[in-house]
Amino acid sequence: MARRSTLLFCFLFSVVAVFSQPDPTLDYYLPAVSYNPAIPTPASWLGFEIGVRHISHDQLVGYMRELDRVSDRITLREYGRSNEGRPMLCLTITDPANQSRLEAIKTARAQLTNPAISGNSDVKNMPAVNYMGYSIHGNETSGSNASLLVAYYLAAAQTPEVDQLLKNTIILLDPCFNPDGMQRFSSWVNSRRSLHGSTDPVADEFNEPWPRGRYNHYWFDLNRDWIVAQQPESGGRVAIFQEWHPNLLTDHHEMGSNSTFFFQPGVPSRVNPVTPDRNQELTAKIAGYHARLLSKKNVPFFTKESFDDFYYGKGSTYPDAQGSIGILFEQGSSRGSAQETENGLLTFPYSIRNQTIASLSTLQAVQELRVELNEYLRDFYKSALEEAAKDEVKGYVFADNRDLPGRELLSVLMRHSIEVHNVREEIRVNGKTFAAGNAFWVPTAQAQYRLVKALFERRTTFRDSIFYDISAWTLPDAFGVEWSPVKAKEYNPRSVNEPGIGLTSRYGVFVIGAPAYAYVIGAVGYEIPQVLNKLLKAGIRVYAHFQRSDILIAGHHVRAPWH
Ligand SMILES: [Zn+2]
Repeated sequence: MARRSTLLFCFLFSVVAVFSQPDPTLDYYLPAVSYNPAIPTPASWLGFEIGVRHISHDQLVGYMRELDRVSDRITLREYGRSNEGRPMLCLTITDPANQSRLEAIKTARAQLTNPAISGNSDVKNMPAVNYMGYSIHGNETSGSNASLLVAYYLAAAQTPEVDQLLKNTIILLDPCFNPDGMQRFSSWVNSRRSLHGSTDPVADEFNEPWPRGRYNHYWFDLNRDWIVAQQPESGGRVAIFQEWHPNLLTDHHEMGSNSTFFFQPGVPSRVNPVTPDRNQELTAKIAGYHARLLSKKNVPFFTKESFDDFYYGKGSTYPDAQGSIGILFEQGSSRGSAQETENGLLTFPYSIRNQTIASLSTLQAVQELRVELNEYLRDFYKSALEEAAKDEVKGYVFADNRDLPGRELLSVLMRHSIEVHNVREEIRVNGKTFAAGNAFWVPTAQAQYRLVKALFERRTTFRDSIFYDISAWTLPDAFGVEWSPVKAKEYNPRSVNEPGIGLTSRYGVFVIGAPAYAYVIGAVGYEIPQVLNKLLKAGIRVYAHFQRSDILIAGHHVRAPWH
């Protein structure tokens, strides 16, 4: 990047001299403080220092389980399995006193997001919650490799500062947001690496074949999936987010090899207008911590360029619509062990060290801004209700055709703790009729007002004409359901039920009582692949009818009807 000047190049030159050392050591990455000898270092457990080669996901899991076993500062939770059956882990790291009252802390946090009772919250004496997530793109693994160092530091460092940090903070550390992608990439890069090391960018080691490690098993980009949350990885972490209401969520990535290091704020003209200005002010304040720590190590960086904060389906933006602060980190990628770049030699250990530094600066920021961040979370939800009261739109109604799109939209909304009601009296609006018992109502007067706005609004004007990627995602349109905003003059509160959802089956029956020779099933609809899969798994014979492509015939004893 030419505009990042000769001056930065000079910086790199001095840094590169250090990084060309053959193998890094622990003190290259972490502060030289006293460490508890009962906690194994990553190198003692792996048999090599972090950065010497790419760790596999299995190694990452093994080390984290070991930390959980030996440290009373860590509770490890497996929150799900990836499509390829890999465990997805979240470490809750805090001091032992907090470990014994996690449920009480969680309850107090839920209170912060409920404006009816949040006035009684004791924000000054509440810990902050810091959700740290690494390498959602599996081939950007400096983050996941750094997570072992960060976890080790938090488990083993013996300083008054770390004691204070653990007293004031609950750290939710997810060492790998994309287990299957990480495993695919680490296998590739380790197997393509030359024993003598080639730094030429055209070397095989730096050029993975499609589908690469970025995606998960089904080639989903998990960093676009935070809203629709269709993959198990996303579903699991959205649930953790909703359970804890973290003050901050970090999202550690890599970018092109010729870039340096980026952290948010992003491009100011591309912040989603639903995000309050205070969010960006706090993001900038936290950026000061990264800048200070990276500068101490002569690491060149940039901010307010290239990346934006617009699409809420990204990990660094999803929190911004919910009283939290999302932070994107982007490290220039060595991709393999060491690669020549426009800025000189970029090594894997160097990229891991930068992610470690950014993690340590985040820890410090959250601990020092604890009260401010908790106040912001409380005020965010309070002001959400005030803004909702001023909004001419009182809610959104969408049809329940009792088929997959409507029901899936409903389940997406409920994943994000959005309040939804059944419609009990017919609603006519904008030339559409939503029948009683056959539609759902999403009120704007609810704590999740801003997220509701972000998901239902059809935004057609923008401050900037350029985007990092996604600029529109109106969910009811995406699911293809009949829907409408309802304004104050069109709204009759009697037409909707109390919060909570009752569902009716599309087919009107739940249990098929009488044994039959066979069943005929209409084969048109989104659910058919699911139904077919379940029948076949249950060992029931199913036939497609060749003359009638719109039906299936199923039954244990049935013979194909054309026999
Ligand atoms: Zn990425």
